[in-house]
Amino acid sequence: MGGQWRSLALCACVSIAGTYLVTKSLESKQKTSEIKNGVAELIGETPVIRLASLSDATGCEILGKMEMQNPGGSAKDRVALAIIEEAERKGLLRPNSGDMVFEGTSGSTGISIAILCKAKGYEAHIVLPDDTSQEKVELLTNLGAVVHKVRPAGIADSKHYVNYARTAAEAINKDDNDPRRAVFADQFENEANWTAHYEHTGPEIYRQAGGKIDAFVAGAGTGGTISGVAHYLKERLPNLKVVLADPPGSGLYNRVKFGVMFDTREREGTRRRHQVDTLVEGIGINRVTRNFEAGRALVDDAIRVDDAEAVKMAKYIVEHEGLFIGSSSGVNLVAAYKYAKQLGPGHTIVTIICDSGSRHLSKFWRLARDVKPDLDF
Ligand code: PMP
Repeated sequence: MGGQWRSLALCACVSIAGTYLVTKSLESKQKTSEIKNGVAELIGETPVIRLASLSDATGCEILGKMEMQNPGGSAKDRVALAIIEEAERKGLLRPNSGDMVFEGTSGSTGISIAILCKAKGYEAHIVLPDDTSQEKVELLTNLGAVVHKVRPAGIADSKHYVNYARTAAEAINKDDNDPRRAVFADQFENEANWTAHYEHTGPEIYRQAGGKIDAFVAGAGTGGTISGVAHYLKERLPNLKVVLADPPGSGLYNRVKFGVMFDTREREGTRRRHQVDTLVEGIGINRVTRNFEAGRALVDDAIRVDDAEAVKMAKYIVEHEGLFIGSSSGVNLVAAYKYAKQLGPGHTIVTIICDSGSRHLSKFWRLARDVKPDLDF
């Protein structure tokens, strides 16, 4: 009898210990899968926020895809990752080899390339016009990028910073004495840009909005976001409207409305020093690019938004939502708000919150000081 009890007690102990060990190992597995394996795994799956103030004012659901929550602070992380991974697949870049990535940009893409190059063992070379703000140059330098400054020139000029980046990468590849490889990221023409948004941003938005979306509103710099998201959403929602939000001086508004790339501010003799005449950074362009053209036929409408409107919206959003947004997000939200008014109550409109206001303190946010935040657009 005593022997039977002893065996029973032993069995119970073994089974409790077994259960304990299995539970512990499951817990540790779950913990491991919650850990992101480096910066690249922090990219994407950004949340969508319902902007209560704009939604209540219009009777629509106005939703913002929080691309500013990517590790590099913008949607460009997705694009830089896609471009680098494609180059790796083709053997044009070898991880941890000191191979080089070149890009001509004064914007968010430079930041995304810089952080991914550090994470993957490459050297980032960012080419900029020499009048780019010191703040931006310092940010890139602190992220470990090599910054090349060139004289401002037109895009047709071989010394334009984008052409300079291409030529510099080609020179490394042609040099038989240099074992490193170099890639020109080419965000305007490289189709890995819009396809990254087709493969990730679009599906995320569709899933997060529960498949119920009436309109997608976005500005275009390269056009990668609007083209990629438009392709994905329209394949599933044929009645969805895609609306371009365009800042002053950009030719895209007329490209969408009338099929011609022209802005009256671009008339001969009136052309300004900068590509587009606005404080808004990251969107608006005056040349035809492959990434915008990839989705142009899917863009149904365009709304112009001026700087004062974008500033007023940004101030309104920080006052009512506690969300500190950058200039292109301000443009997107003005266009989303105007389009919601046009559609009437009961519709869902998704737009992009591109980056944080902290990147726009010295120009855009300085204008906001004396602005009264209201929805009088
Ligand atoms: N907003 C910001 C802040 C950007 O940097 C960019 C990219 N230039 C955009 C919007 C527009 O994105 P896309 O290039 O995909 O058109």
